[in-house]
Parts: sequence; C-alpha cells; structure tokens
Amino acid sequence: MTSPELARAASLIRSIPDVPKPGIVFRDVMPLLADARAFAAVIEAMAAPFAGRFDAVAGLEARGFLFAGAIAQATGTGLVPVRKAGRLPRPAARRDYTIEYGEATIEVQDDLPPGARVLIADDVLATGGTVEAACHVLREVGCRVVGATVLFAIPELCGRERIGDIELATVFEG
Ligand code: AMP
Repeated sequence: MTSPELARAASLIRSIPDVPKPGIVFRDVMPLLADARAFAAVIEAMAAPFAGRFDAVAGLEARGFLFAGAIAQATGTGLVPVRKAGRLPRPAARRDYTIEYGEATIEVQDDLPPGARVLIADDVLATGGTVEAACHVLREVGCRVVGATVLFAIPELCGRERIGDIELATVFEG
C-alpha cells in the first residue's frame, strides 16, 4: 500500500516534454527533493528492499548523488560517486556506453575495500545503460554490486531487460 508521503512524492515528479531533446519526456525530481517529507519517504523506500545488504551506495552523476548521499546517511553506509569522465582525480575504471539521449563515459575510484557490497542509486532508469555501465566499473574496482535502486523507471525504454540479472528496486514507474 502506498503511504500518503509516497503518494505526495509521486505527485511531485514533473514530466517535461521535449527536454533535453524533442521526443524525450524529462522526469523532473527537483520539486520532490524540495519537499522534506516526500524526500524522506522516497529515501526510505529506495533503501528498504536492500536493508542490511550493502556497505556503500554508488551515486550516479549527477542526480544520483542526491539520492545516494541521503541513502548512505540514513543507513550508516559509505558513498561512492560514479562520475562522468574527466572529473575524478584518481579514476581506476572507465566505461563508454549509450543512453536515451546520446553517449557517455563514466569513471570510478577504487576507494572501497575489495569485496565491499555496493548498492547503485539513481533518479531515473531509462534504457538502463548507465546502471549497466556503473555495475561494470564497480565490479572492475573489486566491489560486489548487490543491486540498483531508482526513484523512477520508464518501462517502455526496457531498462530492466538491459541490466539483466542486477536486482532492481523502483519506487515509481510510468
Ligand atoms: P539510462 O542510462 O538510459 O537508463 O539513463 C539514465 C540516466 O540518464 C539517469 O542518470 C537519469 O538521470 C538520466 N535520464 C535518462 N532519461 C531521463 C529522463 N527521461 N528524465 C530524467 N532523467 C533521465
């Protein structure tokens, strides 16, 4: 059953047509982040399916950082930023991939101990390319990816299929 806070959170995700390109519907989570109770409710919902199963949260640049940081603080775990290429001082793994509106490269540092259990967090799952690439670089630096948690998934872009056997939790879909 959806709590009133989650129902309110859902109502605070705006769909903006033709951003950043014609034909793309951008899911804008900023109004949700601005609402303290809605934000707290979605952080709890994003973390709950993986409770006790992760040592750190990997946030995907850029909006994933906001969710990952909050989940890490709420659960007493660490934070690993997965960044766009060229922004980390000590990149240890790198991966090129395709996204809904273009191509991208991500990098990660090797700051976690080998075998650390990592939960990937992001705002939106679209084609799944970013989560798949993040999983790849995290494994390359020795992490054990326990799954991915996203606020919002877009089913018609088939991200769930693309990420294969990576366990996925979504709070909202549409
Ligand atoms: P993808 O790799 O195709 O699953 O794309 C997911 C990444 O791109 C996430 O980091 C999102 O922040 C961003 N993204 C892709 N499509 C959208 C969308 N329609 N609305 C908002 N963010 C999106």
